[in-house]
Amino acid sequence: MAKLLKYANGQLIFECPGCDHAHGVYSKPTGHPQGGPSWDWNGSMDKPTFSPSILVQGEHRCHSFVREGKIQYLVDCSHGLAGQTVELPEINEEEW
Ligand SMILES: [Zn+2]
Repeated sequence: MAKLLKYANGQLIFECPGCDHAHGVYSKPTGHPQGGPSWDWNGSMDKPTFSPSILVQGEHRCHSFVREGKIQYLVDCSHGLAGQTVELPEINEEEW
């Protein structure tokens, strides 16, 4: 089952177990509509890989690599999964 949602604007959404909410990235070659950052994506909805790393500064600092459907949290995350690698949760389109 899919671990990503793809929005019409090209944004890819995944659920982050560390922050307990969703993060979104824009993939190349379409990229960010306002010229913001975009990521290389392997095209897989089930085992996505993004490059380079993803840094989110929200309620938590969240810095991760998404590779082959897993999310590898770097040690500089401020949430409880810092330094751990976990399976990305499957995402149910009907809940969105
Ligand atoms: Zn996160």
